[in-house]
Parts: sequence; C-alpha cells; structure tokens
Amino acid sequence: MTGNLEARIPSGPLDRKWTSHKDHSRLVSPNNRRKFEIIVVGSGLAGGSAAATLGELGYRVKCFCYQDSPRRAHSIAAQGGINAAKNYQNDGDSVYRLFYDTIKGGDFRSREANVYRLAEVSSNIIDQCVAQGVPFAREYGGLLANRSFGGAQVSRTFYARGQTGQQLLLGCYQALCRQIAAGTVQIFPQTEMLDVVIVDGHAKGIVTRNLRTGKIDNVAADAVVLATGGYGNVFYLSTNARGCNVTATYRAYKKGALFANPCFTQIHPTCIPHSGDYQSKLTLMSESLRNDGRVWVPKRKEDAKKSPNQIPEPDRDYYLERKYPSYGNLSPRDISSRAAKEVCDEGRGVGQGGRGVYLDFADAIKRLGEETIRERYGNLFEVYEKITGENAYQIPMRIYPAVHYTMGGLWVDYNLMSNIPGLFVIGEANFSDHGANRLGASALMQGLADGYFILPYTLPNYLAGQMGKRPSNDHAEFKRAEHEVREKIDNLLKINGERSLDSIHRELGALLWDKCGMARNKSGLEEALRKIPELRERFWREVRVPGDGEDFNQSLERAGRVADFLEFAALMCLDALARDESCGAHFRDEHQTSEGEALRDDENFADVFAWEFQGNGQIAPPKLHRESLHFETVHLTQRSYK
Ligand SMILES: Cc1cc2nc3c(=O)[nH]c(=O)nc-3n(C[C@H](O)[C@H](O)[C@H](O)COP(=O)(O)OP(=O)(O)OC[C@H]3O[C@@H](n4cnc5c(N)ncnc54)[C@H](O)[C@@H]3O)c2cc1C
Repeated sequence: MTGNLEARIPSGPLDRKWTSHKDHSRLVSPNNRRKFEIIVVGSGLAGGSAAATLGELGYRVKCFCYQDSPRRAHSIAAQGGINAAKNYQNDGDSVYRLFYDTIKGGDFRSREANVYRLAEVSSNIIDQCVAQGVPFAREYGGLLANRSFGGAQVSRTFYARGQTGQQLLLGCYQALCRQIAAGTVQIFPQTEMLDVVIVDGHAKGIVTRNLRTGKIDNVAADAVVLATGGYGNVFYLSTNARGCNVTATYRAYKKGALFANPCFTQIHPTCIPHSGDYQSKLTLMSESLRNDGRVWVPKRKEDAKKSPNQIPEPDRDYYLERKYPSYGNLSPRDISSRAAKEVCDEGRGVGQGGRGVYLDFADAIKRLGEETIRERYGNLFEVYEKITGENAYQIPMRIYPAVHYTMGGLWVDYNLMSNIPGLFVIGEANFSDHGANRLGASALMQGLADGYFILPYTLPNYLAGQMGKRPSNDHAEFKRAEHEVREKIDNLLKINGERSLDSIHRELGALLWDKCGMARNKSGLEEALRKIPELRERFWREVRVPGDGEDFNQSLERAGRVADFLEFAALMCLDALARDESCGAHFRDEHQTSEGEALRDDENFADVFAWEFQGNGQIAPPKLHRESLHFETVHLTQRSYK
C-alpha cells in the first residue's frame, strides 16, 4: 500500500473554498478558446451538459456516444428527481443541511470539500434547467414542487412526474443542439471509445470504433473528458440500461488512471423482484414512491404465502417504520435494502421465491384519494402493471433490492481531473461525491453540477498551460493504441467457441451478487477472486462472437464490454476484501453493530481506496493508493436513522 494521494483541495473555510478556487484558477481568454479541442466521451446529463457549456464558452468540442442519439443516454431513465437546497418548502433546508445529509448518507467516506461545493451549486442547476424550459412539477401557486427522498428530513427533490431524467436530458440536448448548429460541438453518435491515448504523461486523445461501419479511428485533443456513466451491469442484472458498461473507465485504468472504491455499489430497495433465469434487466420503482407507500411484510412467516388482503393490520410488520422511526420508509437505500434482505432471509418475504416485500399505497389512497396518487406516480404504476399484470392501486406492489448505481469510479481530484493530467472524469463515471452510499436524487445533481458548473472552471485551469501542445494523431502513441484495439477485436473474433456471451455474463453476475452484493465476507470474496479468473479463461476459450469487425456487429460490441467486466469484477472483489470494515453499501458480515448495522473503522479506513493497474492480476496485483479523508466540519458518528 502506498501513501497519500493529493486531492488538491483548496485551503480556507469550507464555505469559501469553491469561490476562492474559482477566483484563483487560470483562465483561457475568449480568443484562445477556439484553439483548444476537447473530447467529451458521453452525452448523458454529465457529458451533454459539459459539451454544451464548453461549446458555448467557445472551445471546439467533439462529443462521442455509443447510442444513435445523445438523447438515448441512460440518464433518460432517471425517474424520481433531482435534489437542490432551495428551501422552497421553508422546512429548514440549507446548503449546509444538504451537504451534511450527503456526507452522512455516504457514511463519511466522501470528501467534505467536494460535497459542500455540490450542495452550493445545486440551486444553480434548477435555475438553469427552468430557464431551458424543463417542466418541473409546480404547486398550485406556481412555485416548483418538491418531494422527499431517502436520508433527508426535508423536501428538496425537484421532479417532473416520474420522468425527471428524460426532461432534464431534453433540456440539455437542446443546449447541445444549439452548439452543434453553431459549429462549436461536433457529435459522433454510435461511436465507441476503446482507448485513451497518453502522450508525455498527458491524456491527448482517444481511439474509437464506428459501430455502424466498424472503422477504427483516433482523435487527438488538448484534453479528454470521460462522462461514460456507471458499471452496475457488471452484475448482469441491474436497473441500468442494457448498454451501460465499464469499458471506457476500465481501459483508462489500464492506461494508468486510478480506479477508486470500485466495490461501492448501490443496491436500490425499490425494484420489481427478479422473476426468472432468463431475465436480462431489472426495473426500478422510483424511491419517490416511498413518500406515500408503506413497506411491510407479514409478522409470521406462515402468512408469507397468503394474499396481502388476507393479512390484517395487527399481523403486518412495517419494519422500516418500526426500526427507524425518524426516517421510516424514507430511510437511505443501503439501510432499507439490507432490512428487506433481513426479513426475506427470515422467511417472511412475499411473492415468488420469498424475495419480495410489499409497498402499500392503501393508506395514502384513503388519505389523499386515488387521483392524487395517480397524478404523483401514475406512470410508475403503469410500468408496474405492464410488467407484473397487477394493479397497485388495489393490491400492494411487491419490491426487492437490485443493483442500481455505482459510487466507485475513476479517482479525481477537486478539479475533477484524474491522476493523468488532462484526463477529466465527470458524472457517475467518477467516484467523487457519494462516499459509500448515494442518496436518492443526488446523481442527477452531481452529473449536472459537474458538467454545467464545475468542469467549465476547472478545465481551463489545466488548458491554460497547454497552448500549442496538442500532438498530431500521427504520433506513435496513437498508432500503438490503435494497434492494441485492433488486436483485441481480432482476438475476440477468433475465439469461435460455443457459449453465448450472455451465459458467461450471467454467471459472472450471479457470482458477484452472491459474494460481493448486499453483504460480503472474507471467505466469499476470496472464493470469488479464485473463480473470476477461471471464468475469464473460459470466456476466452469458449465464447462465440459471430460476424466480423468491419460491419455493424452488436455481439462484438458486447464481447468487448463483457471481457472488460470479467477483469474489472476481480478489482471490485479485491477492493471489498481490502476494505476490512463495513460502511454504507459495503457491508462486511464480519463488521456489524449488535443491531446489524454497518460498523465503520474510522481509524483504519477513513480513506478513499484508489487502485493502480499493474498488469492484469496474473502478472502483478493492482497497487493500492490511499487518500485520507479529513473531516474538519462534521463529526464522524455512527450513522443513525432511528
Ligand atoms: C432506473 C434508474 C432511475 C434513476 N433515477 C434517478 C433519479 O431519479 N435521480 C437521480 O439523481 N439519479 C437517478 N438515477 C441515477 C442517474 O440516472 C445516473 O447516475 C445518471 O443519469 C448518470 O449520468 P451520466 O451522464 O454520468 O451517465 P449516462 O447517462 O449513463 O451517460 C453515459 C454516456 O456515456 C456514453 N458512453 C459510455 N461508454 C462509452 C464509450 N466507451 N464510448 C462512447 N460513449 C460511451 C453513453 O453513450 C452515454 O452517452 C437513476 C438510475 C437508474 C438506473
């Protein structure tokens, strides 16, 4: 293990750090901005907002995504809302409170300075989006409406029905289109980044593959921004869009970027339960539903098979309200997920395989009327009915935890720059703000904060020293990276085995869910670390990748991504094994309080773990670097939501 990483956190009081940092950062003058080319990989809320803003500032931006349109980025799936400390409800919210809730929600494993800045800029995001025309829900009097999300005792979540991500992305896409029309942003849809090119220690380009034609290209730039989202699909089953993957960040890791806290995975408590072996996707039922829905299971396991209507009130266990009376059904995700697993492990789970708990709206319908519930959550009830065939206005929904979000990601400093100069990482792809557990409605906030309000200040600070240093893409490093990409593709096409990609990926997912999912322990993680390399070998021997590389070939796309998942999974397990404590979503069976809550070890683990690639595990294990987290403002306490 090696010493401290330098996070470049500005000095001074917490609430002045960002302002003073902006005041002292270097600038690029308007006339010089067009001389810089910036690559933005990703066009979701993080990448789209960054590309549009940098274009508006006058930089020449090239924005890449693998979908056929930026509008199809996974961000479009976000349902519930986006947090901001506006205090429209007059219920006691403030920048400090959003900051504190986020630090506590993340179980004290994130940087104070980053999180404070996030809370500070949260209000600007709402103003910007309203100006773009995002149709946030409004109160009768016209003010924007708010609801509550887990881990908060105020209502600070702005929403557009159950389609907040879609509406935010449309706003962002409009801003992007304006720049495309103005010629400052060039968009490259259906183009996958397959490597980062490092020249003289700086990120100066990428290698891409055109997914329609198979053409491999390389692109030089003055800086590279990765906004490539999360890697929850390493588990095969997750609530993420099917395309989400780790390839961009993992390949940057193999080029020297440190990967931080890879084992921190969020398991969301409110998803439609898994229903069969051949299912390829899980569906989220937004956390917003827990504003009005009450979570329960039968008190006695003998009742678990009965219909919910046959179980009278005294025989129901509203376990979240019982265990966490202050936050109740809006307890944070890690805690609510574990509580659901616990009651199901006791045999009180409902539905197929006993892996479900009820989310019941009967009381809310009685109190507010069905129409109000329909207005608030109508589209979510429709999704539920389409998938399960059940009408949740009449019988309770059944829900169970599922993989949803990854707090881990590439390590970045306060400027959102990785340890490779010129390589910036934003949105879900970085590790920055959520510690060991993200609070609901904070991912959209972070992605848009990064893209609209932080990167546009910190990127020029780097670029100011880079004038005239953009290499030509004839440089040997570009040729070398391109050659390696071609070689990897050829090797995948040569395997010519019998097994489907899905079957190997499913096996990997089941292993990870079992050994590195909602609960982990030393022997399980060691077992996974033995089995993953075996599975990887089988992949390279047995899998079948039909077609060729010169054409549209979705199997080839997926093969590259699954190959990366198979390597990355080992890094996750190694990280989970090295972090010999419990914190947030990382629950080690060996470390729990007498009440079964996560037991942190602040003396030894109040750190970010950041891993350095050393040669694929078999050659040398990844090297661990640690960034100590210093808490100057908050006191580290045992998290309590009672
Ligand atoms: C079902 C669901 C509901 C959610 N609801 C909420 C919510 O209500 N509130 C909230 O705050 N958060 C929510 N989240 C989380 C939130 O949606 C995501 O964390 C966030 O949208 C991620 O945005 P992003 O821009 O970082 O990445 P994404 O939106 O995933 O975008 C990634 C982009 O990178 C591109 N890309 C990736 N790899 C490559 C590559 N190799 N080459 C080229 N392009 C590449 C993709 O094409 C895409 O454009 C939800 C998540 C899910 C799964």
